[in-house]
Amino acid sequence: MATGLASHSSNFNLHFDSSCTGCGACIITCPTHALIPTPKKISLIKDACTLCLDCIEICPIGAIRTIGFNSDA
Ligand code: SF4
Ligand code: SF4
Repeated sequence: MATGLASHSSNFNLHFDSSCTGCGACIITCPTHALIPTPKKISLIKDACTLCLDCIEICPIGAIRTIGFNSDA
């Protein structure tokens, strides 16, 4: 498991790029089951996400990125 961020920001979100293939690797990897498949590919349950960023590491095409940290609102 990757090292999570020290503090949990209420402003964060994960963006899933339209290039997402729906392979499901991020869903399987998420230790807190914060990712669920939807008709639009993937949705994040923010309250369940610990920001470990494992999903970003596992995505084979780099389709996930964080938004809402610092000035990157
Ligand atoms: S950052 Fe970690 S806890 Fe949050 S959705 Fe990704 S794998 Fe799950
Ligand atoms: S691992 Fe990447 S390509 Fe696969 S479902 Fe998740 S976001 Fe989409």
